[in-house]
Amino acid sequence: MRQVAGRTDHVVVVGAGLGGLSAALRLAGAGRRVTVVEREDEPGGRAGLLSHDGYAFDTGPTVLTMPGLIADAFDAVGEDLDDWLTLDPVRPLYRAQFADGSSLDVHSCVDAMAEEVSTVCGSRAADGYRRYVDFVSELYRLQMQDFIDRNIDSPFALLRPSLARLAAIGGFRRLAPKVASFLPDERLQRVFSFQAMYAGLSPYEALALYAVIGYMDSVAGVYFPRGGMHALPRAMAGAAQKHGVTVRLGETVTRVELRGTRAVAVHTSVGERLACDAVVLGPDLPVARRDLLGRPLRRRLRYSPSCFLMLAGSRTSYDGAHHTISFGQAWRTVFDEILGGRLMSDPSFLVSSPTRSDPSLAPAGRSSYYVLFPTPNLDGPLDWRVEGPRYRDRVVATLEARGWAGFGDGIEVEHVTTPLDWAQRGMECGTPFAAAHTLRQTGPFRPRNLWGENVVFTGSGTQPGVGVPMVLVSGRLAAERITGPDPAYRSRAAAGGRP
Ligand SMILES: Cc1cc2nc3c(=O)[nH]c(=O)nc-3n(C[C@H](O)[C@H](O)[C@H](O)COP(=O)(O)OP(=O)(O)OC[C@H]3O[C@@H](n4cnc5c(N)ncnc54)[C@H](O)[C@@H]3O)c2cc1C
Repeated sequence: MRQVAGRTDHVVVVGAGLGGLSAALRLAGAGRRVTVVEREDEPGGRAGLLSHDGYAFDTGPTVLTMPGLIADAFDAVGEDLDDWLTLDPVRPLYRAQFADGSSLDVHSCVDAMAEEVSTVCGSRAADGYRRYVDFVSELYRLQMQDFIDRNIDSPFALLRPSLARLAAIGGFRRLAPKVASFLPDERLQRVFSFQAMYAGLSPYEALALYAVIGYMDSVAGVYFPRGGMHALPRAMAGAAQKHGVTVRLGETVTRVELRGTRAVAVHTSVGERLACDAVVLGPDLPVARRDLLGRPLRRRLRYSPSCFLMLAGSRTSYDGAHHTISFGQAWRTVFDEILGGRLMSDPSFLVSSPTRSDPSLAPAGRSSYYVLFPTPNLDGPLDWRVEGPRYRDRVVATLEARGWAGFGDGIEVEHVTTPLDWAQRGMECGTPFAAAHTLRQTGPFRPRNLWGENVVFTGSGTQPGVGVPMVLVSGRLAAERITGPDPAYRSRAAAGGRP
């Protein structure tokens, strides 16, 4: 594994997103002096918090999976996750609502889910579901240790026995037909393949390898931190500070000072120069390369679709699950439209109601809603200054037609985020989901996490990729570029039964 050259006593981490915080905890655990510089007044980055009139809205991730990876970040400084955060399992994980009026609750317990599948889709479908779980569980085992959870310097490092096994079980077939081979019911195909969108791909284009994302939520389970998702970065920052990390909030890094290809300091917007031996950059990678390092990426990347996000504080409460995915009649065209730069004509979308799990996130008697509609990124022709207000009304009308009656009238607090807003927050191409996980942008083909002598990247723009679990891993991989492999990692994993 390539490592940074020279001294690494003082490391500056730019950005207190989950990637930066994960790196900071590992670096502190390995005895480095660490300074985190974050432009916002709160840690969390995309896992942000918006407080308004007694509501506490999470502004980013809502589906929290793989708590073992979170626990390992705390373990790195000898802290126990349970002392910092209470993670409640979300049950059911999701409610899937279909255009024919049927619905399916998704459970992580295989027996409970097989029973639900049998009730809604018939007993043969339940058998197919059990075989599908075996398939994705093996995919996860094969991919996690050898391909996701390690620094890969060269494509040749992929040549391992697990690669042949992945091919043998069909990991390199397309996701949609592979899922269909286990699950002939079209509703189940949707439930177990829509996650390709998290990787920025259509299930018809994605390789079956990406079913591993479905494993992470639909099999390994979904959790909700008490106090909302934002409790996670707060806890990580707290643990880091307890172990000597300096966290400087409300300070923007304007550039990295280079001597040749060696970072020697970062400069902040208040005119300060922070000398360092190595730097970890957490902002969106293409933006950090261009604006902070002055060394733009030379290749043109394909970016994931974006999203339109509505956060609503409401006088109305609805029966239902914490997370509901409402599928329209259309399916393949949904992906064709989004990836082709058009808005969905018959949308599929996510509605989360965090107050179902934690009523303290809204004033008494009120409910909060998080409504996410996938959209094209800014590579398309849409002008969100014009489209934004129009789409907001379409979103409300769609919700009302899909079972959230009177949604518009119930709203007392509302915040909308469009792809243009994501771009203004420093996300390339107006997407918070980074470069798409096409084969040419995955593993050793994704932008590298090491540049020059001592500049390391963390976050969803580098390896292994997008989403909270991957970004937590990216923080560990970034730290290991500086400290060398963490010898305790695998034994901690084994002791805790963690990945
Ligand atoms: C709407 C939405 C829904 C999502 N849903 C899910 C989900 O359900 N499940 C899931 O697993 N993932 C989800 N994700 C993805 C997940 O949130 C991200 O992959 C992850 O949080 C990214 O973390 P990061 O550390 O890479 O980046 P960021 O969180 O963006 O961290 C970068 C940090 O750098 C700071 N920064 C930037 N520039 C500077 C500068 N010049 N100086 C100082 N600081 C700077 C930023 O303020 C930020 O704090 C979602 C994301 C969004 C936005």
